[in-house]
Amino acid sequence: MNERPHGYARYRLDGCRCYVCAFARSQYDDNRNRAVAYGTWRPWADAEPVRIHIRHLQSCSMGLRAIAAAAGVDRKRLQAIITGRPERGTGPQEKVRPALAAAVLAVEPTLDNLPACTVIGATGTARRLQALITAGWPQHHLAVRLGMSDANFAATLHRERVVVRTVRAVRGLYDALWRADPREHGVAVQRYSRARAQAAANGWAPVGAWDDDTIDDPAAFPDWTGRCGTPAGDAAHRRLGQTVCQPCLNARAAVRREAGAAA
Ligand SMILES: [Zn+2]
Ligand SMILES: [Zn+2]
Repeated sequence: MNERPHGYARYRLDGCRCYVCAFARSQYDDNRNRAVAYGTWRPWADAEPVRIHIRHLQSCSMGLRAIAAAAGVDRKRLQAIITGRPERGTGPQEKVRPALAAAVLAVEPTLDNLPACTVIGATGTARRLQALITAGWPQHHLAVRLGMSDANFAATLHRERVVVRTVRAVRGLYDALWRADPREHGVAVQRYSRARAQAAANGWAPVGAWDDDTIDDPAAFPDWTGRCGTPAGDAAHRRLGQTVCQPCLNARAAVRREAGAAA
């Protein structure tokens, strides 16, 4: 698996938040927002922002066919924007109908429209599987449900990148199981306890430590206490009999630094 160069695709698909990737993301947004604002112009819209948007989507492994399908437009019309129609002696289009521009600009690379074999960051995938094991689902049970070998499943828990197909499958499994009690779904108590002990030994975070906004964000940390990362987190961990997590240690250190500076 070769790493993508830093840029929009790496921001979007691998979760890189370095300066280059963040800048590429802001350029993507600027291009799109500006074009959407101009999209009210009649009867023609400038084709260049649409072209730029298509290239962004292509950099994320979406082919013209997939982009056309997601936009609900004919692929030939996208081809005309990108390369023109050489057989007719025309270059890339300079103007497009606003409806076509709006349809293309509405397409973003998401789990639903990326090709299934695209390799993307595994942050949310690993966290979901770890949270299910923390809830008492044995690895073998989850592997069977995903149609994976035990070895492949174990590797997926630690991979940095996985294919979109796996990400989708794990999301589906998580959505189906996160509220369920494994013991009511054929998991023997002994295996349930073993899964939970294994998760605890690995320091894996439970379902409750994540929400939809954080679980896929590589920069987010699990909120074990409901107060993690704040000065109140330290005491909350102690009340729960947990070791204090790193963001809470950082928050405590920051408070002490401020107190020291004020003294
Ligand atoms: Zn980067
Ligand atoms: Zn904490």
